[in-house]
Amino acid sequence: MKKDTKIVHAGYDKDRNGSMVNTPVYHGSTVLFDSKAEIEDALQRGMVAGEKVLFYGRRGSPTHWTLQDAVTELEGGYSTVIVPSGLNAVTTAILSFVRNGDHLLMLDSVYEPSRRFCDGLLKDFGAETTYYDPHIGSDIKNLIQHNTKAIFCESPGSHTFEVQDLPAIAEAAHKQNVKVLVDNTWASPLYCQPLGLGCDISIQAATKYVVGHSDALVGTITTTEECFQAVHRTNGNLGLSVSPDDVYLATRGFRTMAVRLRQHQSNALQVAQWLDNRPEVKRVLYPPLPSDPGHDLWKRDFSGASGLLGVVFKRTSEDAVFAFLEGLKYFPIGYSWGGFESLSCPSVPSGARTATQWTEPEPGVRLHIGLEDVDDLREDLEIGLDRFSSALK
Ligand SMILES: *Cc1c(COP(=O)(O)O)cnc(C)c1O
Repeated sequence: MKKDTKIVHAGYDKDRNGSMVNTPVYHGSTVLFDSKAEIEDALQRGMVAGEKVLFYGRRGSPTHWTLQDAVTELEGGYSTVIVPSGLNAVTTAILSFVRNGDHLLMLDSVYEPSRRFCDGLLKDFGAETTYYDPHIGSDIKNLIQHNTKAIFCESPGSHTFEVQDLPAIAEAAHKQNVKVLVDNTWASPLYCQPLGLGCDISIQAATKYVVGHSDALVGTITTTEECFQAVHRTNGNLGLSVSPDDVYLATRGFRTMAVRLRQHQSNALQVAQWLDNRPEVKRVLYPPLPSDPGHDLWKRDFSGASGLLGVVFKRTSEDAVFAFLEGLKYFPIGYSWGGFESLSCPSVPSGARTATQWTEPEPGVRLHIGLEDVDDLREDLEIGLDRFSSALK
């Protein structure tokens, strides 16, 4: 089955849906039982093994199972755990493998709240984090310690767009029995399948392209068979639960992800190429551009690109960047992406790095290219760049 077909049909179950196209939204905490045998079956298969059996509302319902199955199929995994946010997917996945006395290898360009978790709660719990150069590839082997349990990747990072060599990292990790966890939000499971590249866990801030409409927060953790129990147990122990309404919105968004992403990609590529030729711009950070340092890896490991890109200016200032952003008609400032709409924000990656340096002129900007007409977007940005240049003088 091709991926566009999976997007439409994955997770559909006629019985579960009562013959409706979409799975109903099951609101409920309490599940009722008729017999000891039924309780024991639900306990063993549902709660312990993580099979799709009703036990208690917190453990999910058919509404959740449909999203779980759909994401699992697209990611090419064994199963998927649904959690209340993308950040929660990151933290739950890490806590499933890294404990007191353990060591985590974390890429230096990671999403900043994930870094704050490692330097905060994870450290308080007695686990140590070492940050590594995202371009490290197979040399990651030199950083693996006797107590290293996991290597965290995010490819490309959501401000600097550095692409990682996931197969090389996975190969080095598995030689030493270390798990590889990947934040796969930028590409979505449509355009990259980290498990197929040898990694163990693929994480989505489904808040972004899966939900796709900026109206719900959801995270997904897709695992291999070997890793499923660890993540299922952590999720259960932490007592996490996602509202069926939000899960429904995620499943609804999922069904149109293929057409939306094609438009995001097409618009973003046109904007990126246009920006790349502007006199104010030093670099556009977008792996599909042949000039991007991550282009070859992107071409090898990804089947497409999303709508998020970065812009580095030749000369810049905070005043100039805000003169640019504040007047934009179609790019309001917002620290998110993945919805149908364009967004912008200033970008200062150097402050969130410790193992390597980001030496490009700052601030830059990050743009999410939405589904608007690309001519309108370009015109808006063109007028904005004139404001930028005037403010620099
Ligand atoms: C937004 C984002 C997250 C966090 O997702 P939330 O649902 O907002 O918690 C994690 N990783 C990346 C790369 C993100 O962009």
